[in-house]
Amino acid sequence: MASRFDGQLRWLHKVRLYPTCAQERALVTMLRGTRELYNALLQQRRDAWTTRRVSMPSREQYTQLTELREAEPRFAAVYRECQDAVLHRLDLSFAAFFRRLKRGEEPGYPRFKPASRWNQLEYPHGDRALKLDPAHMRVKVPGVGSVRLRKGRIVPEFGRVFLVTKNGRWYAVFEGHRLPSPLPASGSSVGVDRGIRVLAALSDGTTIENLRPGSRRKAVVERHQRALEAVTVKDAIGRPLNTKDPGRIAAVRRLARAKEREANARHDWLHKVSRMIVQRFDRIALEALRLRSMTRSAKGTPEQPGVGVRAKAGLNRALLDAGFGKLATLIREKAEYAARTVIEVDARYSSQTCAACGQVCKESREGPLFACVRCGHEADADVNAAQVILLRAESPPMSAPGIARGRQHDAA
Ligand SMILES: [Zn+2]
Repeated sequence: MASRFDGQLRWLHKVRLYPTCAQERALVTMLRGTRELYNALLQQRRDAWTTRRVSMPSREQYTQLTELREAEPRFAAVYRECQDAVLHRLDLSFAAFFRRLKRGEEPGYPRFKPASRWNQLEYPHGDRALKLDPAHMRVKVPGVGSVRLRKGRIVPEFGRVFLVTKNGRWYAVFEGHRLPSPLPASGSSVGVDRGIRVLAALSDGTTIENLRPGSRRKAVVERHQRALEAVTVKDAIGRPLNTKDPGRIAAVRRLARAKEREANARHDWLHKVSRMIVQRFDRIALEALRLRSMTRSAKGTPEQPGVGVRAKAGLNRALLDAGFGKLATLIREKAEYAARTVIEVDARYSSQTCAACGQVCKESREGPLFACVRCGHEADADVNAAQVILLRAESPPMSAPGIARGRQHDAA
């Protein structure tokens, strides 16, 4: 079906909101209202199933919602489309539940949402519900009023809108669509691999550091951590007792903000690195998705380590992998928008393969250095692996894994 977004890419635009105290109270009330609605609709479906063994069609709940709004002013106070979005969200979680059941997995039944896990209001037709005043950077929210937006932000044409709260702040996330904007061809290709000591290595010899947490930022997080410890009263098994204490709540929030800033810095760094890679290269070879997670599960997790896996090493590794995984996702997104080509490559044994002669041998790899036991080629181990990834992207697709395995046999 043709849509008005044909060929366009989804685009999220996040802008800070500055609600007044009264407006924030209204937003929090709507948040509570939608959460209670979600839990009530879920309860209804559970009851229908346990007492009558029937599944409750969402159409029926939709009709009841209309009746409920007429009877209960508390429900009527919340914008109707936000409530429809809640019902839709419940449908999605049930759809995911049944999909996983069908696949033979053991998913958890959709759960009730505590306040801590309910932090957004969805306006499925935001352009209809919210009135944006770009001249004064204000947005009119039904039932809340005219809320100030961060100045200097240009909000593109939007459809769906989310009002989101995080660590006591509010944001509007506008969902728009835009056409890709191809970058001029650069005529060069690159292989990118996750590094062992670095975030990533490129086949042209560049290595990209992990953003160090930064001693100052780290010190701030630790200070807030200690401050929280100091105001926390614990029971015999270490659970906090004074969770409602305003002083402790403030300390929790300060710690959460410090951690958020740290995460923002890391996120910002990944955006910069991915932008640089997409700008410089036309064709970008990355390891294919999923393959690495298969090898990882074979090694086990920190909770259930496989044979010979140290728990600490596993945890560190998982954190580094998460960083690279995010980088790869950003590269894919930015490449799509810039009309660059991303080639997915089977990355198995890439760290043991010689980029010069193709020999696969464990012994070639000695810590940070790669020294081929056959041809003597020497390189930074991570750069060598990135070069192997690029070679595999450029060679016929069939050859890579088969040959790699065959050669390893020879070497053994
Ligand atoms: Zn070699």
